Amino acid sequence: MQEGKNRKRFIFRFYVIMLACIIVFNLFIIPSIEEARIREVGYNQFISMTVSGEIEQVEIQDNRILFTDHNGNIYETGIINDPLLVERLVASGANFAGEIIKETSPILSFLLTWVLPIVVFFFIGRLISKQMAKRGDANSMMFNMGKSNAKVYVKSETGIKFDDVAGEDEAKESLAEIVDYLHNPKKYEEIGAKMPKGVLLVGPPGTGKTMLAKAVAGEANVPFFSMSGSEFVEMFVGMGASKVRDLFKQAKEKAPCIVFIDEIDAIGKKRDGHIGGNDEREQTLNQLLTEMDGFEGNTGVVILAATNRPESLDPALTRPGRFDRRVPVELPDLKGREEIIKVHAQKIKTEPGIDYTKIARMASGASGAELANIVNEAALRAIRQGRKRANQADMEESIEVVIAGYQKKNAILTDREKMIVAYHEIGHALVAATQANSAPVQKITIVPRTSGALGYTMQVEEDNHYLLSKEDLQNKIATYTGGRVAEELAVGSVSTGASNDIEQATKLARAMITRFGMSDEFGMVALETVSNQYLGGDYSLACSTETQSQIDELVVKVVKEQYEKAKRILTDNKAKLHELAKFLYERETITGEEFMQIFNGE
Ligand code: ADP
Ligand code: ZN
Repeated sequence: MQEGKNRKRFIFRFYVIMLACIIVFNLFIIPSIEEARIREVGYNQFISMTVSGEIEQVEIQDNRILFTDHNGNIYETGIINDPLLVERLVASGANFAGEIIKETSPILSFLLTWVLPIVVFFFIGRLISKQMAKRGDANSMMFNMGKSNAKVYVKSETGIKFDDVAGEDEAKESLAEIVDYLHNPKKYEEIGAKMPKGVLLVGPPGTGKTMLAKAVAGEANVPFFSMSGSEFVEMFVGMGASKVRDLFKQAKEKAPCIVFIDEIDAIGKKRDGHIGGNDEREQTLNQLLTEMDGFEGNTGVVILAATNRPESLDPALTRPGRFDRRVPVELPDLKGREEIIKVHAQKIKTEPGIDYTKIARMASGASGAELANIVNEAALRAIRQGRKRANQADMEESIEVVIAGYQKKNAILTDREKMIVAYHEIGHALVAATQANSAPVQKITIVPRTSGALGYTMQVEEDNHYLLSKEDLQNKIATYTGGRVAEELAVGSVSTGASNDIEQATKLARAMITRFGMSDEFGMVALETVSNQYLGGDYSLACSTETQSQIDELVVKVVKEQYEKAKRILTDNKAKLHELAKFLYERETITGEEFMQIFNGE
């Protein structure tokens, strides 16, 4: 809609300007060009030129005399009552020309100077209009190059309020101050306080950073400009900086307002000294810094930016006066997850009596976006089964779908494989349940998933743990090894099924030594540093090669110890292991309650 209007306005302007050009050209420029060719001289010069025989041609008009010399210059002089004129001219050998300035026929000249240009420009206009329509939002880049494509969402359009963002109470609290400021900037000016110009929303993907930014705009009832960092450095080389300029120009006109820059790390990465680095990105970043410094603290433009790798940002961006406030937007905890699921469940039809706490418990570690997806999957599952409302089972199944991939209906395990998988999964669960501090099992299935996992154990944490003790970690490692131990005890050989467990166990053991200071050998020495904290985390070693090999030995020792522990546990509970594995093998699914019943020998 908006585009169509813009296009029409543009084409209209194009026609007006072209018409004005044609009028000016015909009325003023062409005549003045013609006149410029004619030199006006006095009558006495005309006479002297006649006498000296310099005149080539002469034409006597009603109000003037036109004549040319031998070089083709045209002259003009006034008429004076001079009876001897003709005689003198004849004597000087001048020709009496019919027409010195050739007049074209008036119709032809009208066609050439008026009709033709108008027709030509009309067709050009049509052509441009069509091209623009075809290119759609590309916003007729030919004419608009460098215009920022920040979208303006005026209040009614975002419509998102803090209430729509479930959980994230801490983040909302810090942002509430910004909303208050946008409502009432005077209050802050009076006391002499400056609002932060930029606020950085930091957290893993899908935790609702974009939503929060929109909610700030929605709460404060101000326009919302959003732009993605990667858009700044897209397509047009050299356009990033001018886009930033334009974005801020628009924002200042609309102040108070919110400018939201998603994925700011795309432009804000640390600048390094490398020659031939990404100049485009650097220019864009520099422009952003300039713009941020350029406006005063209280203009009413608040910039919110989101990133999931804060540590990769250029320090210039995060220094005071720029993005100096940082709001962490973390993965939701149990309560947060429950609220998010409820918010999204309101948008679909559900059966009454759904236990949202249980679902939230089962979906531990899921982000807001994943939870939204889980609810949607539940609705889809209800439709597939011909029901009008989603129920508890839909929700539970869709957690597994979102987290573990769809059930693979046609993957067939051989009997022996199925048995091995059953022992493997029960091994994990039994070790976990035996160790007091480990989380109980919610459900185990040995139905293969498209994600490639042959079985799936859902461990549920009763409460949120923020601190894990050394024993907790050791028990976790023991649980990881439990699968392999059970295979060994049951069938006397080992399979490839434990590769992921091995990876996880090794990671944990290594972290205990290098980052958590849980080894007697090294104590509280940091041997690894973390980067990309919010994207799974990359670790880089910060020690000498000799130390590295020592670490490796220690990791092996830790994992081996826990493997032995798991072996002891399962050997002591061998009867239970067989009983549980048989149950799982036959039913393919075992719930936490069934598991605990057998485990407790009821
Ligand atoms: P981010 O910008 O952090 O990657 P988004 O704000 O784009 O995440 O969130 C993606 C989607 O996830 C949202 O559209 C919303 O449906 C859902 N979502 C995420 N967090 C929440 C939350 N706290 N409350 C409600 N919905 C959420
Ligand atoms: Zn396993």
